[in-house]
Amino acid sequence: MGRVYNFSAGPAVLPEEVLRQCANDMMDYKGTGMSVMEMSHRTKMFEDILGRAEADLRELMGIPSNYKVFFVQGGGFQQFAAVPMNLTVNGVADYIDTGNWSNKALKEARKYTDVHVIASSEDKTYTYIPDVSDLSVDENADYVYICQNNTIFGTKYKELPNTKGKTLVADVSSMFLSEPMDVEKYGVIYAGVQKNAGPAGLVAVIVREDLLRDDLPAYVPTMLKWKTQADAGSLYNTPNCWAIYVCGLVFDWIKRTGGLEAMKERNEKKAKVLYDFLDESSMFKGMVVKEYRSLMNIPFVTGDKELDALFCKEADAAGLVNVKGHRVVGGMRASLYNAMPIEGAQRLVEFMKEFERTH
Ligand SMILES: *Cc1c(COP(=O)(O)O)cnc(C)c1O
Repeated sequence: MGRVYNFSAGPAVLPEEVLRQCANDMMDYKGTGMSVMEMSHRTKMFEDILGRAEADLRELMGIPSNYKVFFVQGGGFQQFAAVPMNLTVNGVADYIDTGNWSNKALKEARKYTDVHVIASSEDKTYTYIPDVSDLSVDENADYVYICQNNTIFGTKYKELPNTKGKTLVADVSSMFLSEPMDVEKYGVIYAGVQKNAGPAGLVAVIVREDLLRDDLPAYVPTMLKWKTQADAGSLYNTPNCWAIYVCGLVFDWIKRTGGLEAMKERNEKKAKVLYDFLDESSMFKGMVVKEYRSLMNIPFVTGDKELDALFCKEADAAGLVNVKGHRVVGGMRASLYNAMPIEGAQRLVEFMKEFERTH
C-alpha cells in the first residue's frame, strides 16, 4: 500500500522528504555507522543535531536572544502542571477557557494556584473565541493563559488577549510553525511537536529569561523546573534524541520551503479549499463561527450520526484516513497541518462532493 492522505490531529502527517531522510540515515547517520536512536546524547554528533535544531527554530520564529528554548518530554499535559509550578508568585492565575485543552490546563493549575476563568466560550460549546480585548485581569495575576489554536473544536484566536501587562502563556501545540508569531508578545510559548513538527514525545518550550526562577517551592520536581532544562540546554538528562533529530529535519524543511510566511500562505489556501466547500454544501457543515476558524483543524458534520460514521468509513477506504472527529465533538475533523499537500484537501473535497451526490 502506498501513502494515504492522513488527516489525523496528532500524531500527524510528516513531510515525505523528512521521512525519506530518516530512512536514509537509519543504518548510518553521517558515517557514524549508527542511527541517531543509538547515539549517546553526550556526543559531538548529537550536540550538533540539537544545536542546529534550536538555531533553526530560533531563526524560523524570530526568537529574541532573551528567550530560552528547550525540548522536554512529558507532552502538553506535563506543561499544564509546569506552567503554574514555574510561574506562581502571588498565587493567582487567569485562564481563558476555549475548549478541552485550556480546560484541562486550568484544572491542573488549580492544584498549585488560585485559578480565575476570565473568559469562556463554553456557553456555545466552544464554537467561538470570546472577546478578549478588555478582560478583568486580576491585578495580582501571575500570568494569563490561552490555548491559541483549539485542536478539538477547530477555533483560533484572531487577536491575542489584552493581558493588561501580565505575562501571556500560550499552548500553541496544533498551530506551531504554521504561521509567523510575534514571540515578544508572550512570556511562555509551548508546543507538543506531534501535531505539526515531529513525532510524539517532545515539547518545545520557549520562555523569556526573566521568568526562569531558582526559588521554586520544594515540591517542584527538578525535571519540571524550567530553569533546570534551560540551563542544561535540553541535556539535563537523556532527551528524546530521535524526536529532536526529526524536528530538526522538519525545521530545515520549513526553512527550505520558504519559512513561516510561505507556510501561512499555503495553509490559508489549503484550508480555503475545504471551508469554501463547507459553506456551499447542503450536506456538510462547519461547526465554528467563521472569523475564528482554525487553519489547522477543521471539524464538520452532516447532522446525522450514522451518515457521519458511513462517511468516515468510506473516506478511509478511499485513502483519506483519520477524518473521524474527536470523541468530545463527534462528526468529522480534517487536520490540514504543514505537511498535508493541497492535493489532500482537494481530494477530500472531491470525495465529499461525490458522497453528497450519492447519499
Ligand atoms: C494534543 C494537544 C495537547 C496534549 O498533548 P500531549 O502531548 O498528548 O500531552 C495539549 N494541547 C493542545 C493544544 C493539543 O492539541
